[in-house]
Amino acid sequence: MYINGDFVKAKSGKTRDIINPANGKVMATVPEAQPEDVFEAVIAAREAFDGQEWSSKTALERQDLMLALAQKIRDKFDFFVELETQNNGKPKREAEFDIDDSINCLKFYAGLATKIHGETMSVPANSFSFVTREPIGVCAQIIPWNFPFLMLVWKIAPALITGNTVVLKPSEITPLTALEFAKCFDEVGFPKGVLNIITGDGTVAGNALISDTRIDKIAFTGGTNTGKHIAKIAAENLKKVTLELGGKNPVIIFDDANLDLTVDWALFAAFANSGQVCTAGSRLLVHADIYDVFVQKFVEGAKKIKLGNGLLSETTMGPVVSKAHFDKIMNYIQIGKSEANLAFGGNGNSENGYFIEPTIFVDVKPSDRIAKEEIFGPVVAIMKFESEEEAIHLANDTEYGLGFGIFTQNITKVHRISPKIKAGIGWVNWYHPTFNEMPWGGYKQSGTGRELGLYGIENYLEVKQVNINLDTDPVGWY
Ligand code: NAD
Repeated sequence: MYINGDFVKAKSGKTRDIINPANGKVMATVPEAQPEDVFEAVIAAREAFDGQEWSSKTALERQDLMLALAQKIRDKFDFFVELETQNNGKPKREAEFDIDDSINCLKFYAGLATKIHGETMSVPANSFSFVTREPIGVCAQIIPWNFPFLMLVWKIAPALITGNTVVLKPSEITPLTALEFAKCFDEVGFPKGVLNIITGDGTVAGNALISDTRIDKIAFTGGTNTGKHIAKIAAENLKKVTLELGGKNPVIIFDDANLDLTVDWALFAAFANSGQVCTAGSRLLVHADIYDVFVQKFVEGAKKIKLGNGLLSETTMGPVVSKAHFDKIMNYIQIGKSEANLAFGGNGNSENGYFIEPTIFVDVKPSDRIAKEEIFGPVVAIMKFESEEEAIHLANDTEYGLGFGIFTQNITKVHRISPKIKAGIGWVNWYHPTFNEMPWGGYKQSGTGRELGLYGIENYLEVKQVNINLDTDPVGWY
């Protein structure tokens, strides 16, 4: 682990094996943090913040360090891509996209360092009133396993560039690129204690981290139930919290859509990263007039997906991340078979890696569990609608509100529907591209707050008003 500028083992000596999901074999062993390790990391981050060495650096100095870090990762690009592929299972070309986008995210926030500014306000009294933005303090950041490196950078970059210090816990399943990131971070010359990375279980290390009263803010990405737990713990001493949680995202496909283009993007929406994406287009709502032809083309497209080890160039879909997750998804496939019609896939193999076929259920009913619950795997539910109103109703018929897609040639329809969908991220005639410049986050039970863009910066800043009396008169109140 990386604590206070040193690479350390757990004090208890406990370790955890890290499994390559493409073959089920141990690929590394990492420390298993216990509360005493977490406390040490929190103290390091607290001292680094309170000592002000980091927060008092000029914005330009912080920017330069962040740019140097981005370059260091660029220099080791291929190494990071292979490690991410091996630890998470995703195809290499997806890992390439993730690492490239992560480098761009570091650069985006490096650039923003020098653009953070205060304000002056014209107020009625004889006062000079101004607003400053200040770092919040020590941030606990907890991330999931589906985009191990990208989620790490989305968290760390805005927190550090604004002068906060961080203790980050990657998922216990996918900590390897985070630990390699720490090496780059260390080599670049950030002050010690500014970033600390602990590896360990959520219920032990994660829980110790979020419960620590020396933490000022928690930023969490993961499942909705874990998010609710974290919000409750954070409420006990009113820590600031931002939550990026799950989704059951609708993709509305109208009869006037360009069919081949739509099938192409809908496959990507459902099966990128083996469907292990918070915004995965896991509910396809298809207009009745094109339903049959869409399903036929969608199944044809799914048949072409090449399941395999992500390191092989022919692989277009990798394994799912772990045996436990494999079992969860296979259980949902069983549930799906009892609720709807299986149009394609449904088979899994966990003898040598954790592989599940792209799986397509059709004629799914809104009340079915596979239509309501986040499966987080290569399983898609296709439903039929007749009218625009019905499509909007089905799209919103979920406790989640993260992503949505609309496929149509009619831009008026897009503007009419988009405001009626209760979700934070929409795509029209494509799906999944994200931009570091744009806000990311969910409505309803998909979370609170926004990451990325200028919005992401605000999550890590306190706002302070200061009013200077320009008069010399006493108040004379008593
Ligand atoms: P998870 O909630 O099981 O775990 C996420 C992280 O929380 C892990 O690091 C885990 O160790 C930690 N954790 C678990 N229990 C904890 C506890 N009691 N206290 C503190 N930390 C704890 O989620 P997961 O299975 O790793 O990830 C999948 C979920 O993440 C999906 O629901 C997905 O939609 C969501 N996700 C959301 C976004 C987004 O931007 N909204 C992005 C990626 C993933």
